[in-house]
Amino acid sequence: MEYENTLAFAQQMDKADSLKSYRGKFYFPMMHGREAIYFTGNSLGLQPKATQDYVLNELEDWATFGVEGHHHARKPWFPYHEQFAVPVAKIVGAKPEEVVVMNQLTVNLHLLLVSFYRPTKERYKILCEAKAFPSDQYALESQIKFHGYDPADAIIEVSPREGEYCIRHEDIITAIENNKNSIALIMIGGVNYYNGQVFDMKAITEAGHKVGAIVGFDLAHAAGNLKLALHDWNVDFACWCSYKYLNSGPGGVAGVFIHQQHLNNPDIPRFAGWWGHDKETRFKMEKTFIPMQTAEAWQISNAPVLSMAAHKASVALFDEVGMDALVEKAEKLTGYLEFVVEEINKYQVAGSKYQVAGSKYQVAGSKYQVAGSKHPDGFLEIITPRDKKQRGCQLSIVAHGKGKDLFNKLTQAGVIADWREPNVIRCAPVPLYNSFEDVFRFGEILKDVL
Ligand SMILES: *Cc1c(COP(=O)(O)O)cnc(C)c1O
Repeated sequence: MEYENTLAFAQQMDKADSLKSYRGKFYFPMMHGREAIYFTGNSLGLQPKATQDYVLNELEDWATFGVEGHHHARKPWFPYHEQFAVPVAKIVGAKPEEVVVMNQLTVNLHLLLVSFYRPTKERYKILCEAKAFPSDQYALESQIKFHGYDPADAIIEVSPREGEYCIRHEDIITAIENNKNSIALIMIGGVNYYNGQVFDMKAITEAGHKVGAIVGFDLAHAAGNLKLALHDWNVDFACWCSYKYLNSGPGGVAGVFIHQQHLNNPDIPRFAGWWGHDKETRFKMEKTFIPMQTAEAWQISNAPVLSMAAHKASVALFDEVGMDALVEKAEKLTGYLEFVVEEINKYQVAGSKYQVAGSKYQVAGSKYQVAGSKHPDGFLEIITPRDKKQRGCQLSIVAHGKGKDLFNKLTQAGVIADWREPNVIRCAPVPLYNSFEDVFRFGEILKDVL
């Protein structure tokens, strides 16, 4: 794809975008009298305009029916969660019986670990990525301690190599093979929240199964961002939240996937509650837990309908658009952001701040080959993989020599992005509602601010 760093080009791309009408279906925060450039859909997705009606309907039905709403609401609450099985399964590449929407992400991770982390004296280790999202680290450590093992011994972290930002796939596979007799579980984030790297979930699952380990993924940054095929990849379990790419509101109801082969397995332990009990006999309120035949068996409590109503509004949009169209646009849109950032680097060099002649930087094609290990102030280094298959829509950018001041200036200029100390800007142009013009304007602001 040939990009141009001009407003006319960006507007022409937007005009040709088959998803362009979806932008108007979301509320954008306003800054200085105009819509913000919102690049934090990876942290909290924007609110669909339809969400308020979905939630209001449930409030009205509650007012109208009281407890009778469980059966007489327009969408009865007793089976409310069942509406998600088909559309959510499509989002993550599962069979409808393999997914259920319930609780919140870290809670679900714990519930899945209860079922799928079953250490023995020989096999008790968990392999994960270094610098996993803190909540996942805490969950893994506490589960290990709960079973009486020592996290310092039981956690195998795979790190990027010295001087690199991303983890090499072959290093994950090697770590699995090197610990083939002691790994009980591989538990990795499908997309690393910090650098935006996508892991090869199919290959990791295969490698894990080959050594007899269970393989699960935290898809917080993957659900609604990547095309997933959890069932076909034979992933054992996965969990995700709904408030990032899935736009279902702060703290919204989360989702889990449990592979078909583990459904109906009476040997799998589980923390049970009444909503996981066979629905035909649930209200007989009898002793003895009889699990549902689907992922619903992992439900504990009755459905949080208000939060689910918000989820439904967003899932309806995903169902309309489909992951194929989203991923196709995401590749172009994120590719455009990558291009624009590189143009800024070039511009800064041309602006004679850096002496290309001094040969520290050499222009090879459109990319800068950095000879020394140190980048000049203001150099924007994209640390997310350049390979489209190894990233979703997020780009993480190190602003060399810059601090929080740069980020504050971006915010003042109407950009909502995400800053991680000491100098990483995370930007996620979301294909469902961001435009090429957003990316162009972001580039102009960034150039100004630098
Ligand atoms: C966002 C995120 C979380 C947040 O957990 P909650 O239980 O939803 O608060 C956990 N893990 C990962 C990988 C995340 O990206």
